[in-house]
Amino acid sequence: MRIVVLAGGIGGARFLRGLKQAAPDAEITVIGNTGDDIHLFGLKVCPDLDTVMYTLGGGIHEEQGWGRAEETFTVKEELAAYGVGPEWFGLGDRDFATHIVRTQMLGAGYPLSAVTEALCTRWQPGVRLLPMTDDRVETHVVVDTAEGRKAVHFQEYWVGMRAAVDAHAVVPVGAEQAKPAPGVLDAIAQADVVLFPPSNPVVSVGTILAVPGIREAIAGAGVPVVGLSPLIGGAPVRGMADKVLAAIGVEATAAAVAAHYGSGLLDGWLVDTADAGTVPGVEAAGIRCRAVPLLMSDADTTAAMARAALTLAEEVRP
Ligand code: GDP
Ligand code: CA
Repeated sequence: MRIVVLAGGIGGARFLRGLKQAAPDAEITVIGNTGDDIHLFGLKVCPDLDTVMYTLGGGIHEEQGWGRAEETFTVKEELAAYGVGPEWFGLGDRDFATHIVRTQMLGAGYPLSAVTEALCTRWQPGVRLLPMTDDRVETHVVVDTAEGRKAVHFQEYWVGMRAAVDAHAVVPVGAEQAKPAPGVLDAIAQADVVLFPPSNPVVSVGTILAVPGIREAIAGAGVPVVGLSPLIGGAPVRGMADKVLAAIGVEATAAAVAAHYGSGLLDGWLVDTADAGTVPGVEAAGIRCRAVPLLMSDADTTAAMARAALTLAEEVRP
């Protein structure tokens, strides 16, 4: 079975670990969000691709959910001693090596997709990890600051400001001109099922879908498209997804996110058992819906979520 998954960082990566356990023989292609990418200290950092790579490759800091295990921060401290920031972005020494290799290869002319493949040679994530595009896309968030309304890089909003102020708009800058990376459209065309893990619907899955051609390919593939809600009981499980949902006028509920993706894209949707009451409403909107436990508390629970998604996919298969 060929499975395509559109993934952000933590939510996507943890789900993928469960999916690998649930479907060990499946050929899994991950289309990763690159809208979070940022240049720091002259280096190209791809937080979501790295979270997937480290999580599936066994190098992730488990409790934190991003960055490397057993990390040290000597380089960052030394940079700070020179007064060089930003100090709000946690780049550890081990992690730095990844960004140095990536930046070196990009500088030598390799596209991000080739660089990602090279990095994965070390990590052996057990999936084919593709960036959504080789072109530069950067998500910006419009916020009010002391100097007035302005757009800041998503990382500055999310990590630097901890999404403490309201977002007025979320703009994937460059997405309109971006082309899907090599392999992306082919993987979708050859897929037996497409899954949206419980990743952020706006700044992860939404950004991937903003690359022209990807949404159309998924909607037109004629295979089941099934998503899992990142919201439980009207709130994100982790992080501040409610802030960016508000910016695009979508309520922070499992049902509202399903409606936002819409029946033109989504065939099936899993909500948590806490949101079982929303199942009839989602189904009335033309999306098959089931309530199952959606907390990725351990490997077996996460694998059960993945199995539920694949079962729902068979139910809705045209
Ligand atoms: P990011 O790029 O690291 O922010 O990660 P993603 O976009 O992949 O995922 C973020 C989303 O994952 C958040 O909106 C969380 O609500 C969701 N999430 C995290 N842990 C869980 C979980 O255990 N269950 C569910 N259903 N969602 C989760
Ligand atoms: Ca992210």
